[in-house]
This record gives sequence, C-alpha cells and structure tokens, in this order.
Amino acid sequence: MLAFTAGRLLTPTDSIEHPLVLVEHGRVVDISTRSSRQVPAGVSTSDFGHSIIAPGYVDLHIHGSAGYDVMDDTAEALPAIEHLLARHGVTSYFPTTVTAPMDRTLRALERLANAIEKRELDLERHNADGKIRALPLGIHLEGPFISHARRGAHPPENLLAPTVALFERFWQAARGRIRMMTIAPELEDAPEVIAEAARRGVCVSLGHSDADFAAAERGIAAGARHATHTFNAMRPLDHRSPGILGAVLTDRRVSADIIADGVHLDPAIVKLFADAKGPAQTVLITDATSATGMPEGRYRLGSFEVDVHDGKCMLDGKLAGSVLTMDRAVRNLARFAEWDLPRAVAAASRNPARVARIANKGVLAVGADADFVVLNSEGEVLRTFFGGVECPE
Ligand SMILES: [Zn+2]
Repeated sequence: MLAFTAGRLLTPTDSIEHPLVLVEHGRVVDISTRSSRQVPAGVSTSDFGHSIIAPGYVDLHIHGSAGYDVMDDTAEALPAIEHLLARHGVTSYFPTTVTAPMDRTLRALERLANAIEKRELDLERHNADGKIRALPLGIHLEGPFISHARRGAHPPENLLAPTVALFERFWQAARGRIRMMTIAPELEDAPEVIAEAARRGVCVSLGHSDADFAAAERGIAAGARHATHTFNAMRPLDHRSPGILGAVLTDRRVSADIIADGVHLDPAIVKLFADAKGPAQTVLITDATSATGMPEGRYRLGSFEVDVHDGKCMLDGKLAGSVLTMDRAVRNLARFAEWDLPRAVAAASRNPARVARIANKGVLAVGADADFVVLNSEGEVLRTFFGGVECPE
C-alpha cells in the first residue's frame, strides 16, 4: 500500500483539505483526511506539502507531440508522445487521426489498435514498461466524414461522403477501438452513420461542419452528443441563423470541447463558451500536433506538413492544430473564464472521461485508478503519477 498527502485534494467535484489518499494495486482504496485517519502501520507516505493532488488529465483530441504524429509508422512515435503528455499532466489520451488517403488511414488505425492492445497486456501482466506514460484508451477518428466548406487543414482530395459501409471498414481496421468520431451532420447519410457509430458505443462529435441549426439537431437526434473544437471549423454564429453553434451552445444534451490556447479562440469567446456549457459540459482538448514541445519549424500532421511560428501551426494561411499542452489549457481556462482551479481541472479530467464513458479515470474516488497530478497553487504540473507510481523525468 502507498499513502499520499498534500495541502488539498481535488476529486475534482470536492475539495478536501489535508487529504490522505491510500493506493493499492494501482487503485485508490481510501480517501480521508490527516486529522481523521492515521497512516496504516508500515506504509510509507509521500507528502506533497502545500501542493494540490488532482486527477490525471484526459485528452480526447491529440494528433502528436515531441516531433511525432500518432499516424507515424515508427515504433518510437507513441512512447515519445506519451512521455511528453505525462510531463504535462495527461495520463490518458485518445490518439486522433486526420484525413488521409484511405490505405494510410486503415494502416494507422490498425497500428493504433495494436498499440492500445499491447498497453492493456502490459498493464495486465504488471509489465513496468506499460505503466508510467500516458495510456491510449481508444482512437478518435477525425475525418474523412467532414465538410469541404469547413475542412480546415484536412486535405480536400481525401474527404469522403459518410456511409455505414465505409465506417465499417474503419471499424474493422481499428478492431473496434474507435471511441470518438468527428463528423459533419449535414452530409447526406450522416445521420445513419451517426446512429450506427453511437450504437457501437462511439462518442459521436459534431465538427468540421457547415450545418444549419436543423441539420445539427438532426445529428444530435441521431445520437451525436459532443462537439469538436467548438467555433473552429464551424459555420460562424449568426443571431438570425444560429447554425451548428446555436445548437451546440444551447442544447443541454451536448457536451463540447475547445482549444484554449489563446490563439484558436479569443479569451472572451472562451468565457462565452464556458458560461454557455457550464462546469459539467465544458471539455478541454489540445488538438496538439507533432510540433508540441519542439522548437519552431516545419512539422508533420498526418500526411502533410505545417509551419510552426509564434505558437501557431499554419497550413496555407489556416490554423492546423496547436502546440498547446493540457496543463496550460487548464490555466488558460481558469484565467479566461474566471473559473476557480477545481472547475478548470474538471474540464480536463472528469468531463472528458465522462464524454468517453471511462468510469475509472478522470476522478479520484475509491475504486478509481490512482492516476494523478501534483499541482502548485497556480495549477502548474509538478509531478505526474500512474497507478500511484511516479513518471520519471
Ligand atoms: Zn480539427
């Protein structure tokens, strides 16, 4: 058994002063306070002083980091990305594809499924290698079922009209490991594909879309329950023709994510969004590219390249992903939306875990995985733990 104490614990829905957290076999077995419970005899205690213990972050939308893209065909890619993620507090993530030629997408899905299965096996066998870096929980398929008008950086020649048969090919290649899919609901047959994906437990997310209000609502009625990088690659909000944004911002069945890097959205829009979606349905993503954690220059995103300068990833004058890390997203949300740290932390932990329907992550409660971060009062990540084991530098 392991014991952890700190100045404060964010579960994140509750805030507990002077907590005592007991961990056994990688899981939280008890949460109490230092005044109400003694550390059991013989158990060594890690004391984080005045710092804050919070759940490890969950990133639903990330393309790469540390010079690698999740679609890269090289064994070093995912471990390098996962180490960088851990240093920024992310303990679980959903590797995200971008639109690419069909065969390249199918191969990437198969490789990602292999990687996810290998990590599951490592964990089952208590293989140390599988333990102390961010864990891929499933694949996010972003494209090819997106709008030509709102494709962003996705290559137009590889966009496809959604069909259940095509979705089935992706599903087979990924051996059922697709957990999220971004789709434009206004495309013909999109409602059928949304319904089929939702039936298989995929979180269907509206995005890269030029939908009007009615088409967005049809997507939601078919089973979509989330929205992808809200405002970016969407028909803009118009007060007489509210469009997809009017639906996403007002429909209480829908959670939604944003890229809070201060570049993709003006801070005032982050506040507007946070006020509209509220503390339970606001989700932070990074949309990070391989350029994250690297010097400025030219970097790969899926099968194309982006220029990185001044904290922006650009392709042909359009924003193409980010260099954002989740710890910075949390601190930005707190500042831009005037939210306290627990609410901002929830948008990077409990909320994305709920969106992906992952029960044992994103919260610190009895029975949950002991994946947590140690934060200072500014929300900076000092240390990251996986199942109670610290990630080395
Ligand atoms: Zn996108």
